[in-house]
Amino acid sequence: MSVRVRFAPSPTGYLHIGGARTALYNYLYAKALGGTFILRIEDTDIERSNAEYEKLQIDDLKWLGITHDEGPDKPNPKYAPYRQSERSAIYQKYADQLIEKDLAYYDFCTEEELEVMKARAEAEGRDPVYEGKWKDPANKVEALERVKAGEKPAIRFRAPKKSYTLKDKVKGDVTYPANMVGDFVIVRSNGLPVYNYCCVIDDMLMEISHVIRGEDHLNNTVRQLMIYEALNAKLPEFAHVSLLIGSDRQKLSKRHGATSVNLYRNENYLPEAMCNYLTLLGWSHPSETDIFSKSDLFSIFSLERFSGHAAMYDLEKLKWVNGQHLKKMENEDIIKMLSGMPEATGFNQQDPAWKNTAVTLLKQYADFVSDIPKKAEEMIFGEHIEMKNELMEILGWETTPKIIDYLHGEMNKITTPFVTEAELTSWMDFAKKDLAIKGKPLFQGIRAALTGQEHGPDLKLLIPLTPVSIIKKRLSLLSKTKQEKDG
Ligand code: GLU
Repeated sequence: MSVRVRFAPSPTGYLHIGGARTALYNYLYAKALGGTFILRIEDTDIERSNAEYEKLQIDDLKWLGITHDEGPDKPNPKYAPYRQSERSAIYQKYADQLIEKDLAYYDFCTEEELEVMKARAEAEGRDPVYEGKWKDPANKVEALERVKAGEKPAIRFRAPKKSYTLKDKVKGDVTYPANMVGDFVIVRSNGLPVYNYCCVIDDMLMEISHVIRGEDHLNNTVRQLMIYEALNAKLPEFAHVSLLIGSDRQKLSKRHGATSVNLYRNENYLPEAMCNYLTLLGWSHPSETDIFSKSDLFSIFSLERFSGHAAMYDLEKLKWVNGQHLKKMENEDIIKMLSGMPEATGFNQQDPAWKNTAVTLLKQYADFVSDIPKKAEEMIFGEHIEMKNELMEILGWETTPKIIDYLHGEMNKITTPFVTEAELTSWMDFAKKDLAIKGKPLFQGIRAALTGQEHGPDLKLLIPLTPVSIIKKRLSLLSKTKQEKDG
């Protein structure tokens, strides 16, 4: 059986984190099984659907690298069109067949009549189910005449009064009791078909083999099972993936922070990191690793590793995952990204060799590409020295002023804007041999003198990146502080 999966967004807003996760699971499943990943646009809710949202959602999917094999822009003539708004004739054709077989019926009840039915059921403590006259096949002749005369009724599906059991790949057996749902509308009186109906017709005609979607659709599934049965269509496999929740264990919503993909995109999150983190929300890697790229999963993704429990969306973990991906990125790609960022103007003005070394060093301290110029300001270009106790202690050692004086003298000889690693090594050697300073006083003294910090990265990387003018200012400031302290 060939694997055909689909992501079927409604273009009524931006691409949501949960939607992106569903798209990703379908995409990965298609990749893992050599199947086809289809993008279908579910735009039957004409009031809320908007072509602009369709475009933005596709754009975000593209940014995430979740590319479809078939869709409105890549039609396979056997299955096209891929927008539900362009498939009305198809839905009508199947609705006519269902009516013909008395599996559905025309319903001329007005809103008011339906309200009365509902109120009566409520008063009697029953679930509100349809019990209008049109349910009775005896009224079919009258119904057909009224349709012929130009009236526009709704089309209602006759829900069988029996229980259904869904064999879900994630949830296991899900049993829906008989009479859980009453007869339901599949085509509204304005001619627009409803989601549960279109979804089945499309999944059937598009030969979808696996429906992987959010657990919030489990309640819809019983209606869909009924329609499959009425159409005598083969059921796809279903996998309903667990809900996304916030730290308060409530369904993930805007209250918990940014829930649309475009906001993360604007904040410089890496698409590979987003995909990595989204995959982990409800699925686990067979070797329990947390960091991977999409393509690492192509050979191992399976429906067996889904968790049945709700997945907690944790922004801190996402940031950490982003940092891990940043550290694995090529410097060249990071530099390219920074070149388009206004906040990196200072960074971008440096020469290519400087940028390369700076990225090697600074990405170790960053979670986001945009952290790199900030870290450069802080760790390389910072002139201010915070006179913390630990630093004052180092300044108080008798060896430190000797190091400061010596380095000051050396710096004054330098005519280039930066020192080299070789110069730094020669100063270390001099302090060790000629000034006879060793161990902690040597290493901490030199670090404090050149950086104004007690801790930090490897000096061999950091110092050749720091402008001589800044190192000189730090040395002067430290001498002054020491003199003031000594009074
Ligand atoms: N249009 C539905 C949604 O956006 C798709 C549900 C499904 O995958 O069947 O939630």
